[in-house]
Amino acid sequence: MLQIDCPFCGPRAEIEFRCGGEAHIARPLKPEDASDETWRDYLFQRKSPKGVHFERWVHSHGCGRWFNAARDTVTDRFLAIYPMGEKAPSIEELKARLPDVGSPRHAYAENRVAPERVEGERP
Ligand SMILES: [Zn+2]
Repeated sequence: MLQIDCPFCGPRAEIEFRCGGEAHIARPLKPEDASDETWRDYLFQRKSPKGVHFERWVHSHGCGRWFNAARDTVTDRFLAIYPMGEKAPSIEELKARLPDVGSPRHAYAENRVAPERVEGERP
């Protein structure tokens, strides 16, 4: 099971959390002046990268607080967790800390716990 490190409670099982979608989506400053295209982009256009994705998460079955996270969508590994309203770390910063960011060879590593084998189950 994936573990997510809540900045307020510590590591907890992923089932306690809910993803709130892409982070850093800014509402148009002057909504009355925004074009239809600006509203379309604000409401519906989201990134879906293969690699680092910046997301909002809430510890819905815990403290109920929101935070931002950088998650590698290939490995499902959380690369950074930072407060709401704070600027996202750059991809270069993340790669400097974790050179294998985006590498598929680390799939199922670190954040994943191998399932326990059941007696008599085939491998
Ligand atoms: Zn929490």
